[in-house]
Amino acid sequence: MNQKTQDSCFLCGHDAVYEETDYSSRRFYQCSNPACGEYEISIIAMKRLQGASEFKEKAIAKANKCVGTENILEIATSSESSVSAKLKPRSKAKSGNV
Ligand SMILES: [Zn+2]
Repeated sequence: MNQKTQDSCFLCGHDAVYEETDYSSRRFYQCSNPACGEYEISIIAMKRLQGASEFKEKAIAKANKCVGTENILEIATSSESSVSAKLKPRSKAKSGNV
């Protein structure tokens, strides 16, 4: 069972819902802003990206392109210091909740 939680979008601040995925280490956001989109973000990446408005702007554009496609945007830490935003197949987005 996937429980959806109301929240403001981490990227743009609009109304959104998220589901916890990957054993609660990530969140899959679905944003109501037509200019934003759907993305999965890790809790660690969220902490790293506080105030990173430039990164968020780019991520919003990428998330928006994912709407209606087979892909979602995955925002996660790729190393000690950097956060990456890349596309991955939607089918793998919720593997932690199976
Ligand atoms: Zn948004």
